Amino acid sequence: MATQQDFKTAVFGPLKSRRLGNSLGVGLLPYKTCSHDCIYCECGATTCLTTERKNYYPVETIPAQIDAVVAKNVPIDYVTFSGMGEPTLQCGLHVIIDHVKNLNCGIKTCLLTNASELYRQEVRAELKNLDLIVPSLDGSNEEEFRQINRPHPDVTLAKTMEGCIAFRKEYPAIAMWLEVFIVPGINDSPASLERFTALFRQIGPDKIQLNSLDRRGAVDWIRVPAREEMEKIADCFQNAGFCVEIVGKV
Ligand code: SF4
Repeated sequence: MATQQDFKTAVFGPLKSRRLGNSLGVGLLPYKTCSHDCIYCECGATTCLTTERKNYYPVETIPAQIDAVVAKNVPIDYVTFSGMGEPTLQCGLHVIIDHVKNLNCGIKTCLLTNASELYRQEVRAELKNLDLIVPSLDGSNEEEFRQINRPHPDVTLAKTMEGCIAFRKEYPAIAMWLEVFIVPGINDSPASLERFTALFRQIGPDKIQLNSLDRRGAVDWIRVPAREEMEKIADCFQNAGFCVEIVGKV
């Protein structure tokens, strides 16, 4: 992963990913620069809680970094925007996405995002040539959202929903896997699941991915749900007509 201020190692991998196969990571943000401070974040507490979009990294240098890996003929399924912060805080992601598309060699692009910035039209426009977007939606209401994601004061569940809905409407051909991180005791009650179902209906993702704690998060009190608990939640969403996958290790 990209380290703080290390402009030479923004591209890392490819790494084997459970969900994405051989994933070449692109991490453009300085360490823990994010619009969220999620309690489950495996990178630890957010040190720069911000919604400021800017050129944290010289994106124009990334295509050559990707080309250098591609030239080695290692198998790559996805170029994935991830790292230790929120990728959409970086301006100019289209420079990288469009470059990968123009390579025309079967490599796809994927964005892992907390979706906080998707309400901005200019962010959605930069992403129009993506192959796959994986937005997070961990709170079924504002209270849960704030408990789990501890966002910047400018970030709300309502705005996050607005962004996801707009993105889906504008770019229906881009695959969307909506990720929900289950925190037992906060977002897994019958009432929460009912509210989630209503939110999913508004967005209309291709798939719901249920995740849970794998490694230590930013706090130490999160309980790892039992497999049966996750299956029960998956059944609930499946019965409501959604395609659901459990991606956590439980
Ligand atoms: S959005 Fe991602 S990087 Fe940011 S705090 Fe949450 S898990 Fe960590």
